[in-house]
Amino acid sequence: MLVLGIETTCDETAAAVVRRPPGGAGEILSNEVMSQIAEHAAYGGVVPEIAARAHIEVIDRLVQRALDNAGLKLSAIDAVAAAGGPGLVGGVLVGLTTAKALALASRKPFIAVNHLEAHALTARLTDELEFPYLLLLVSGGHTQLVAVKGVGDYLRLGSTVDDAVGEAFDKVAKMLGLPYPGGPQVEIAALKGDPTRFDLPRPMLGRAKPDFSLSGLKTAVRIEAERLGALNQTDVADLCASFQAAVVDTIIDRSRAGLRLFRETVGQSNAMVVAGGAGANSAIRRALMRFCGESGLRLVLPPPHLCTDNGAMIAWAGIERLSLGLTDDLTFAAKPRWPLDSNSEAAHHGKA
Ligand code: ATP
Ligand code: MG
Ligand code: FE
Repeated sequence: MLVLGIETTCDETAAAVVRRPPGGAGEILSNEVMSQIAEHAAYGGVVPEIAARAHIEVIDRLVQRALDNAGLKLSAIDAVAAAGGPGLVGGVLVGLTTAKALALASRKPFIAVNHLEAHALTARLTDELEFPYLLLLVSGGHTQLVAVKGVGDYLRLGSTVDDAVGEAFDKVAKMLGLPYPGGPQVEIAALKGDPTRFDLPRPMLGRAKPDFSLSGLKTAVRIEAERLGALNQTDVADLCASFQAAVVDTIIDRSRAGLRLFRETVGQSNAMVVAGGAGANSAIRRALMRFCGESGLRLVLPPPHLCTDNGAMIAWAGIERLSLGLTDDLTFAAKPRWPLDSNSEAAHHGKA
């Protein structure tokens, strides 16, 4: 089975071809990503109109490159998948329309993939992994602990009541004057910092329900930064390290609560899986390794470039859905909001 996947929900234009031979493991034949960092850098964040235009400018070339690098013609592809949301509607429309046109022209099925479902299923592309598993999704727009019970079968155990983890990283970076995009910059600055210099809050610690809250932590960083006034490099490094340490503590405590709830409601988990851009953070990855070691839980960490947005995850989710006979009508409309656990198949897709 060969699927072409297209991703355009935010500021990455991506196209990839993934193969799964019958009974075999997934194999990425090509994975092309073009980031729009330069276009948005001047604004310190993603500008929706600029994003949509930038997707249009590169999508055709990028799809061709994904096919070329896979050594395939469009006619060899079994289905075309695109992220149908959630995300910026202008961008989603570019990917969806492109995928529909390719599917129509090649008379192949079209699959609308939930971007969050693609993040959630990536671990099954990189590792042999059975359902159910505990998913920690920490991306730019979402922070959730989810019981992944099957394709299209998700139980949200908890989520953030305010900012997402990636969003908090980005906002802290911005307030400390670090370049856009901020997440990786905070991680780099934190390497040289003292994580104990600032005593920052760990919101939600000890709560039974595995929810997150990050805006108070972000505000605490702002207050410390304002108190210091002009920040030197050491201040920035120490603030980043202290912030990152607080995020790590929060994530581990919330994961512990999530695992407990998983075991109570679903049963034994086959693994803990990390997905989303902040899953690329090595302090978070190290802490999760320790946590899973102590909890006797297998940890599946997809490589960082498959944690951030990419086309392979969309193609893979397409393969998972196509394998179950789940395809979509060309009338499928973009969904700027599309919660993972509302993925009631009958309601959202043409076929159940
Ligand atoms: P969503 O998937 O929720 O729609 P998104 O697609 O924008 O949002 P991703 O591409 O999965 O999110 O992740 C991007 C986010 O990950 C950004 O907020 C970015 O700052 C964060 N991120 C990336 N690398 C790191 C890192 N090394 N440390 C912390 N955060 C990081
Ligand atoms: Mg992105
Ligand atoms: Fe994402």
